[in-house]
Amino acid sequence: MSSRSNFIYPENGIPHSKTKVNSAPQPDVQNSRVKIKDAVITSMKNLTDDTFLLTVKLDNNEVLNSHAGQYGTLKVEELDKPRAFSFAKAPTSEKKGEYSFFIKQVPGGKFSEYLEKDRSGQKITLSGPMGQFKIDDSDEDMVCIAGGSGMSAINAIVEDAAFNKVKRNCYFFYGARQQKDLYLVDEISKISNIWAKGYTFKFIPVLSEEPEDSDWTGGRGFVTDYFKDNYLKTGVVKAESCKAFFCGPPPMINAGAKVLEDAGVSEESMFFDKFEDARSPAPVIDNSKCVLCDECLLVKPTADCIVETASLSDAKDNGKYANISRIDPAFTSGLYYNTLYINEDKCIRCYACVHACPHNAISPEYDLEPKTLRNMVKN
Ligand SMILES: Cc1cc2nc3c(=O)[nH]c(=O)nc-3n(C[C@H](O)[C@H](O)[C@H](O)COP(=O)(O)OP(=O)(O)OC[C@H]3O[C@@H](n4cnc5c(N)ncnc54)[C@H](O)[C@@H]3O)c2cc1C
Ligand code: SF4
Ligand code: SF4
Repeated sequence: MSSRSNFIYPENGIPHSKTKVNSAPQPDVQNSRVKIKDAVITSMKNLTDDTFLLTVKLDNNEVLNSHAGQYGTLKVEELDKPRAFSFAKAPTSEKKGEYSFFIKQVPGGKFSEYLEKDRSGQKITLSGPMGQFKIDDSDEDMVCIAGGSGMSAINAIVEDAAFNKVKRNCYFFYGARQQKDLYLVDEISKISNIWAKGYTFKFIPVLSEEPEDSDWTGGRGFVTDYFKDNYLKTGVVKAESCKAFFCGPPPMINAGAKVLEDAGVSEESMFFDKFEDARSPAPVIDNSKCVLCDECLLVKPTADCIVETASLSDAKDNGKYANISRIDPAFTSGLYYNTLYINEDKCIRCYACVHACPHNAISPEYDLEPKTLRNMVKN
């Protein structure tokens, strides 16, 4: 149901409008699928030199009802924007109200810096669930390929599949640089003990920068090349009857998808969860394609990353707008000007809106001047 059917009119009947976007967030769309919950950091444990297992617990043991493969956002008071992190465990393997994340620290990153101290006991806001990455319902072999902290969503998916006794073979490839970057190897390998009887579960770490003369006897090279040479070419996994699940940094996923495509795995058989970050472009909305279905507004992680606006003014040299007149459907009567605007400064590059839009109206590849209906008609 459209949020616009839920208008609440102020008592004097005069709609509120002309709100600068940078003011305190107005009441958000009322039926958002993203829940915003107070929580506390219960523990931080080093998995490697630069990766933590961070556990948070929602106040009053509340739950978010996520499925394996989804993500949430974490927001701390010290930083202006939340960050997206995949739930790292299957919902059924968490204690009630608890959520685990595998978080890799990146040089110069603000959330990364925040985690340099032990933050156990600190308050944090967890929002979610978000994202559509999940296991499909076929019975084809699963090829899971994770890189870096992309281990999180894939770990959740395979744990979940194991608990649900999914009757499929599963090959879980993990790409890391060196042995020191590997974590939870024993724990993940043991998933084979609870995997559906008669089906294979195999965990295969592959190292790209391990010194030649080290004691490492496992896979070497780029993880997707290793999969191609040792599993596809040898017929252990068949291109025409497998599904691939990728999670991690976008360059790894793009390169990996190309390798699989060249090897004959169809595009429809590949599912991705790309960990975009501050370096990725903010998506842009093409309002001429938008049909006001609200899907993007229902999944956005922050109140003001996508703004419903009547006008944009004071364009600056950098293409941003100094003044965005925000309309809030909860307080605005009939007039609506068909302009959704992504505020780049508030966008956390989660691409939830891109995936949610059923009309292909949002893309990081669009390069459009935001327009109101008025100037679209004039043009
Ligand atoms: C859907 C989704 C799920 C995600 N899940 C996870 C997860 O499970 N675990 C996880 O660790 N991360 C995950 N991320 C990435 C995470 O949201 C942050 O982007 C990342 O932790 C960096 O945050 P930061 O605050 O430290 O850096 P920011 O302060 O946001 O970035 C500051 C600068 O750091 C540099 N930088 C940022 N990211 C990287 C990087 N990856 N490599 C090198 N330099 C970088 C850039 O120069 C950037 O401008 C996910 C992202 C998305 C969109
Ligand atoms: S990518 Fe879309 S949903 Fe995510 S923060 Fe940016 S505008 Fe909001
Ligand atoms: S941009 Fe897409 S998802 Fe958002 S309201 Fe328009 S059509 Fe719907």
